[in-house]
Amino acid sequence: MMKLLHERKEIIKYSLKMVQSALTTGSGGNLSIFNRNEKLIAITPSGIEYHELTPDDIILMDIDGNIIAPYNSTFLNSNLQSENFNLKPSSEFGFHLALYRKRSDINAVVHTHSPYATTFACLNREIMPVHYLVAFAGNKVPVAPYATFGTRELAENIASTIGDYNAILLANHGLVAVGKNIQNAFNAAEEIEFAARICYQTECIGKPVTLSDDEMDRVIAKFKDYGSRKKNQL
Ligand code: 13P
Ligand code: ZN
Repeated sequence: MMKLLHERKEIIKYSLKMVQSALTTGSGGNLSIFNRNEKLIAITPSGIEYHELTPDDIILMDIDGNIIAPYNSTFLNSNLQSENFNLKPSSEFGFHLALYRKRSDINAVVHTHSPYATTFACLNREIMPVHYLVAFAGNKVPVAPYATFGTRELAENIASTIGDYNAILLANHGLVAVGKNIQNAFNAAEEIEFAARICYQTECIGKPVTLSDDEMDRVIAKFKDYGSRKKNQL
């Protein structure tokens, strides 16, 4: 039985959703899920177009970044070597691991280059709560300082900016969203792209009205059980 088969399939499902929802293009962005019981992280391979992915292509690693699968079978009979042996984990695995270390409440990370969020990221400008859906991130969407993609410095900048936020911008790069599962992380990425677009559009024709911190606290509290099937939630 293939390890973390469910997580591998979920990663492929949400990779395809990421492309369909225009949150990224080509092989931009990356996704991971941390199975804390198994102590294994499933993550997209680097530079591979999402529509090509099969469960075998998803890389498994431990929290220290050691690759567990595809198994490095150099020392085995060459017949046993996986054809996926040459796949590398996402170049951003460092910030995925840093986020899992920093936040024990999260089990999934989604990184996108969605156009409106990235517009704010390239201005090095936070997204203020012009629309209440900014609450998917928190009371605003902060910006992690720029560093070259795939570097330890970028991982450190992200880890020191995330705090309790569920989405942050990466200066001159894109967006990272986190969640207790991949659906939550994906929804945060999608809703923040919507909020970024609304913020941009309002500034095109006028002066947006920003919601107060008190109001955002109320919305964040209501979001805690929003979308669950429990009764009397709203
Ligand atoms: P990977 O294909 O290596 O995951 O890189 C894409 C990306 O978005 C880098 O920031
Ligand atoms: Zn990126």
